[in-house]
Amino acid sequence: MGDASQAIEMPQRQYARLSPSGISVIIVAPASVASAPPSNVIEKAIIFASNSGRIFERWEGVVEDLDPIIHKSEGLNFHTWDGEFLTRQVWDSEKTYGRKINGHRAEIHEKVYLHAKARGIDIRFGQTVTDYFETDDEAGVVCNGERLTADCVVSAEGVKSKGRKIVLGFEDRPKPSGYAVYRAWMKTDELAKKSSTKWFCHGDTHNGWMGEDKHFLVASIKGGSELSWVLTHKDDGDIDEDWTFPGKKEDVIKNIASWDPALHDLVNATPPDKLHDYKLVFRDPLPTFISPKARIALIGDAAHPFLPTSIQGASQSMEDGVALAITLERSGKGKVQQAIRAYETIRYERVHRAQMTGVSTREQWHKADWEKIRSNPKSLHLKRESWLLDFDQEAHTYAVFDETVAKLNAEEAARQADSSAPAPAVEAPAISAAPAIAQTELVGMGQA
Ligand SMILES: Cc1cc2nc3c(=O)[nH]c(=O)nc-3n(C[C@H](O)[C@H](O)[C@H](O)COP(=O)(O)OP(=O)(O)OC[C@H]3O[C@@H](n4cnc5c(N)ncnc54)[C@H](O)[C@@H]3O)c2cc1C
Repeated sequence: MGDASQAIEMPQRQYARLSPSGISVIIVAPASVASAPPSNVIEKAIIFASNSGRIFERWEGVVEDLDPIIHKSEGLNFHTWDGEFLTRQVWDSEKTYGRKINGHRAEIHEKVYLHAKARGIDIRFGQTVTDYFETDDEAGVVCNGERLTADCVVSAEGVKSKGRKIVLGFEDRPKPSGYAVYRAWMKTDELAKKSSTKWFCHGDTHNGWMGEDKHFLVASIKGGSELSWVLTHKDDGDIDEDWTFPGKKEDVIKNIASWDPALHDLVNATPPDKLHDYKLVFRDPLPTFISPKARIALIGDAAHPFLPTSIQGASQSMEDGVALAITLERSGKGKVQQAIRAYETIRYERVHRAQMTGVSTREQWHKADWEKIRSNPKSLHLKRESWLLDFDQEAHTYAVFDETVAKLNAEEAARQADSSAPAPAVEAPAISAAPAIAQTELVGMGQA
């Protein structure tokens, strides 16, 4: 987290707040973007699908603020690796589900940051959390060497979360997934001058090229004046603490040697400082998202790192936050631990089901049977399943809260009746067979 918040224009709007619940919450949360002006951060794209789009829509004025900076194409064109057009997938069937928000991560985060500030949320930059602790009555973090306490702590630190240690009881390390992405975000002035690439610059466009164990996605935005691209490919490099490196054009070109020449021209036109090599890492699924005393909750990638091919990691992080906010509201200050347990119960199954879509989409594209695809090009289309996309986490949490608490109470009563019975272990889903759950940042619109 940097300390450049003063560089961001401060909010003008004022919003009504609900009356205070009295619950104090420390959220260790993504701040790397809002803490630095967009021009100073690594530029990368993100898609929030309709299940989180409807969350944005409930934040007064935010979608309107986002509108000028978000991607507006109606579909995705699929091509073979060498450039033959195969099929176009349009998004009309899901329009009723909610708004899709697709754009530059830093720009989107800045709008949300301004909204949160305007709502009076206390946001502090320049804070580094190095440890977590809890008692029966409170939880806290060691932040810049100082101990801060609250009723509960939410660890939303992404895949490197230090909060995982207190939840797991040991320190686990991220692992290479066997895949990496080259990614870039650039202005299109140079592309517009060349016949092979000028078509990228005509309005907001979205195109994908599929090949064995690789896919290349290109999205243009802001009327075609900016563009992001991403190449997902196999990678056997090891990772240490960092997994973002400067990318080299010659390495990208080597990866797509026999691919569409337009992609070579695109890569060659990419300014060197805009090209990044990002190793995708994963962690084994966790058996639980919450600490032993239920005062600390992991949310987002800290709890469940997502492969980009699910196009859901950010949306699921938002759903986590909504569910936790509502279980806290419904439980009240005296029952914060109940709220945290209910959050986990409500989210656990759905989020893991969503997580697995990252593997299936990647395999659908990378292991494509080209004979079958030529006879049915639509088999390349992304699955747009209503269980995932037509989902309202807010309404769902209110609807299932009472029954969830009743179930947890019944389980606790049964455990106390048989005090020799161990606490119920939530079994982690068996995803690790395919090195699948990857992490974090980037990638070109719709990037998967
Ligand atoms: C290549 C790629 C493309 C992707 N594309 C998409 C997509 O299009 N759509 C989608 O939904 N998902 C996508 N994902 C997944 C998505 O990026 C993640 O699931 C999502 O960002 C998780 O959000 P988060 O808030 O949990 O964590 P993060 O976004 O990782 O944020 C964690 C933040 O916590 C901060 N932090 C970390 N440690 C500390 C500490 N000790 N103290 C204080 N702060 C700390 C970090 O600076 C960071 O800003 C993609 C992932 C990858 C790798």
